[in-house]
Order: sequence, then structure tokens, then C-alpha cells
Amino acid sequence: MAEIVSGKVVSAKVREKIKGDVASFYKKHGRAPGLAVIMVGNNPASAVYVRNKHKACLEVGITSYEITFDENISEEELLAKIRELNADSSVDGILVQLPLPKHISEERVIETISSVKDVDAFHPENVGKIMIGNYTFLPCTPAGVIELLEHYNVQVEGKKCVIIGRSNIVGKPMAHLLLERNGTVTVCHSRTRELREIAKEADILVVAIGRANFVTADMVKPGAVVIDVGINRLSDGKLAGDVDFSSVEPVASLITPVPGGVGPMTITMLLKNTLSAAKMHENNR
Ligand code: NDP
Repeated sequence: MAEIVSGKVVSAKVREKIKGDVASFYKKHGRAPGLAVIMVGNNPASAVYVRNKHKACLEVGITSYEITFDENISEEELLAKIRELNADSSVDGILVQLPLPKHISEERVIETISSVKDVDAFHPENVGKIMIGNYTFLPCTPAGVIELLEHYNVQVEGKKCVIIGRSNIVGKPMAHLLLERNGTVTVCHSRTRELREIAKEADILVVAIGRANFVTADMVKPGAVVIDVGINRLSDGKLAGDVDFSSVEPVASLITPVPGGVGPMTITMLLKNTLSAAKMHENNR
């Protein structure tokens, strides 16, 4: 039976440390770090994420500015708000909750956020910096996975790492972070042939595809570390990961549950990035 990773426990530990660092920051600079979260429309899943981010900020002492716009806001109005926040010295981090309505270009929105306030690390400048290993911010979900691996003493060096999913926000940066830690990395996607066989070679298997219970025991090498990034809402309202937990748990050595695995780490890394941004802004004043 695998050891079950507790994202809740690790995340509580990291948040405790962030809370202490935020208090020291406040003492030194007379202000709290600030995060602005913009939401457009009323997608219920986005609303839950935004609420959780707000709550997490308050818990560690980060000032959170929630900005909500009607679904019909024009792209120009949204970009104007972002430019205003770029210029506001009480705001260290800016996050625009995705997805956005069709008439607004996500690309233009991301590129308008100042790269030094881009705490999601989606701006092309930050993506480029990650590629060359000289980064300011790491994208929250892959960074959270790395933090979990470190906490559970999983050595990446020399290991066969297989990532299923190649999105810009999870799969691709995940591949880079594992490569940077000297893993031998394979990235799979919807056109991969023999996915099953490739997955089964992995010492560390990271799954981020958005298909409930896709990875079954026959795709997992005995003793593998299995990280499930997926969050899928089933028809009965329950959440499921991309990994079929009940069949894979007996095969793996370490496994993340859904919920309670990678999920809590994502917001924790957002808090960490906001604090880093605030320190950087104070150093550059
Ligand atoms: P995307 O939809 O952007 O990307 C999905 C990726 O999975 C694509 O690269 C796609 O391949 C690949 N894929 C889809 N179906 C298959 C298949 N049958 N076989 C192999 N590969 C496949 O998703 P995200 O990366 O944004 O999110 C992935 C999952 O992680 C979702 O469930 C999401 O909710 C969750 N998530 C969780 C977070 C957390 O905090 N825990 C944060 C972010 C996401 P192709 O490129 O060929 O289309």
C-alpha cells in the first residue's frame, strides 16, 4: 500500500512559515504584501477558487483585493484595470482568474500584467526565465508538486519521470522543473502512442489531463511515486483525480489523493510568490 501524501499537512506547514515571514515583512516595511485577484463573470468553480485564495491570504496576513467584473466587461476596460494595478504600489501580485469570456484574449490579459507582479508566472517573460533557470516566480501548481516531493524526500535525480499532459500551466513547466532536478523526463499528451507502456516505466508519474480516473493500476510501475494534479467533478458532485486512486494505491509507493493532495499546495505557492514579489518590490524602491 502506498503512503498517502497529505497536501493539507505540507501546505499548513509552509503557510505557517509564510505567515511568520509576512509578519517580519510588515515589521520591516510597515505594510502587508498585497494580492489583487480579478474575476470576470460568475463561473461557480472560479468563484470557489477566488474565495479560497482570499481566505488563504487573510490567514497569513497578505492583503487581498478582490475585483469582480460583469461577464460583459470589454477587454479594454479589463486591461485598463490591470494597468492601474500595475502602477499601484500597494499591490505586489496580480492574478486574473481563468478562464475568461470568449471576447477577451487571455494572451493579451496575461501580457498586460507587469512581469514583476505576475505571481501565476504565466507572462512570456517569466516563462522564458523558467526555461533558462533564472526565474523570479515559479508557476504555482508545478512548484507545489516539487514542494511535496521534497517534503516526502523523493529524489528526482536520475529517475524516470513521466508527465501526462502538456498544458502551459501544468505539464510543460512541470517537465522543466523535474529536468532541472536532473530527472529524465518524458512528456505525454493526447497524440502519444503507447502511453500505457511509457507510463509504466515511470519512477515518478505526474498526471495532469482532466480525465477522471484515467490512470489505472496496469499503467503504474510497482513502487512508483504517483502525483495526481487532476480535479474532475463527477456527475454525483464528488471530486475525482485523473488517477484511479483505489486501484493505483496498492501498486504505488507514494500517492496524492484528490482532494487534499496537490490542490492545497497551489494556493500556498501563490502566497509564497506574492511574498517574494513584495520583497522584490521593496528591495527595488
Ligand atoms: P488542459 O486541458 O490545458 O491540458 C490537458 C492536457 O492533457 C493536454 O496536454 C492534453 O493533450 C492532455 N490529454 C488530454 N486527454 C488526454 C489523453 N486521453 N491522453 C493523454 N493526454 C491527454 O488541462 P490543465 O493542464 O489546465 O489541467 C489538467 C488537470 O489538472 C485538470 O483536471 C485541472 O482541473 C487540473 N488542475 C489542477 C490544479 C490544482 O491546483 N490541483 C491546477 C491546474 C489544473 P493535448 O495537448 O494533446 O491536447
